[in-house]
Amino acid sequence: MIHGKLYINGHWVDALSAATREILNPFDASVIATVAEGGRDDTRAAIQAARHAFDNGGWPQTPAAERGRLLFALADLIERDREEFARLESLDTGKTVEESRWDMDDIAGIFRYFAGLADKDGGEVIASPNPDSSSTLVREPVGVCGQISPWNYPLLQASWKMAPALAAGCTIVMKPSEITPLTTLKVTELAEEAGFPAGVINTVLGPGPEVGAELAESNDVDLISFTGGVATGKSIMRAAAGNVKKVALELGGKNPNIIFDDADLDLAVDYALNGVFFHAGQICSAGTRVMVQKGIHDRFVEALLARMKRIVVGDGFDEKTQMGPLISAQHQAKVEGYIEIAQQEGAQLLLGGKRPDDPALQNGYFYLPTLFTECKNDMRIVQEEVFGPVITIERFATEEEVIQRANDTIYGLSAGFWTQNADRIERMSKALRFGTVWANDFNVYFVQAPWGGYKQSGLGRELGKIGLEEYTEVKHIYRNY
Ligand code: NAD
Repeated sequence: MIHGKLYINGHWVDALSAATREILNPFDASVIATVAEGGRDDTRAAIQAARHAFDNGGWPQTPAAERGRLLFALADLIERDREEFARLESLDTGKTVEESRWDMDDIAGIFRYFAGLADKDGGEVIASPNPDSSSTLVREPVGVCGQISPWNYPLLQASWKMAPALAAGCTIVMKPSEITPLTTLKVTELAEEAGFPAGVINTVLGPGPEVGAELAESNDVDLISFTGGVATGKSIMRAAAGNVKKVALELGGKNPNIIFDDADLDLAVDYALNGVFFHAGQICSAGTRVMVQKGIHDRFVEALLARMKRIVVGDGFDEKTQMGPLISAQHQAKVEGYIEIAQQEGAQLLLGGKRPDDPALQNGYFYLPTLFTECKNDMRIVQEEVFGPVITIERFATEEEVIQRANDTIYGLSAGFWTQNADRIERMSKALRFGTVWANDFNVYFVQAPWGGYKQSGLGRELGKIGLEEYTEVKHIYRNY
């Protein structure tokens, strides 16, 4: 049983306004939970609790190995409740339970990775200009962190933020997306069970423009870490300027997946599917922008189309289902809007472009796998993030041309390409201006590898050692003897 409440200073509480929100199942729009809907006052109380736990509560002074021990304990609890977590995540997001299980395994691993890193940084001695002095560098926790996560990978994205912040000695106020709060509430419960002291972790539910904006504006928050859309990221950056708090942003993407003539066709088709149809394309690194060299273009399109026709759309709890619904009615309408725009722009619709006819799926927010060919670089469907099960195919002739076109975007999150030419792998890896580049693969993540975007895809990195360092300040201590 999930507490549908806010967690502030070690207590489960209702919103001060007593407001609540119904959480809907995207499969059929049924109500799966009613949770407290916090506002600015609740957020201020949570920030004060985190402030106290940081300034007076001793969390930053807790030995790093002890912080690590608590994180290991939390990882064990997540693993213990893996199935319950996976089912909750699928209820809340509509994604298949199999996908949610993979997420939960990743999440336990993420907590373990940062648990292990917590006590590994011994600082650094640097050369000092004066022989009678010494200079050392130490890393100290940044302070109180506001953490705002999106709805597409609710607990995975939250864990990317929580684990390194807590390992570094920061205290946190976590704000999950208001439409998918359930697994973040559950992990907060498990953190309590693991023994994290009161005030170190606070979880506030509520609308972004209130709870999230308060975190971004507050003078008592030292760092704001946000994952979500570019427009929201920009407003957070502006709000954060008030006290020059540190800003970490993981924003959107429009990720090219480039298929050269010498690609392994079967693999490239497989991964073009994997690159897009996880969670119905609602993934920041979805390789929706497929660019195919002219010699392989027709064969690739034919093979992709055949495979896309076989994707089973339905209930994420049914083992046969390969793709669940979109997250909400509002998002479904947004995807539909882009389909219209693409057709007006002259893209050729080969598949999908509509909701499924299956009567069993009519109450949910479903959309069929959709394929457009004859797309051009300047089309909105090619340049803007649709965040749905929609692939656009562009044809190209030369390597130089495709590099120029792939980089011609405001985004810079991730890119992939397929070729068997080793020299080309080197050239392409260097030429693509994206935070992650995959050669002969797509959508590969692991906790050791930092993740983040060039250009408007974000600021800073999550995961890896860098992901921990983002939650630290560097202090230079100069001692004159
Ligand atoms: P969103 O920007 O609408 O919301 C994200 C979060 O921000 C939510 O918790 C929301 O409540 C909050 N929020 C909304 N308005 C706010 C405001 N004014 N101030 C502070 N917080 C506010 O994004 P979304 O629709 O939940 O998520 C989809 C977006 O997230 C996509 O653009 C996707 O690419 C991006 N995303 C990026 C990554 C990455 O790693 N780069 C990962 C997942 C999702």
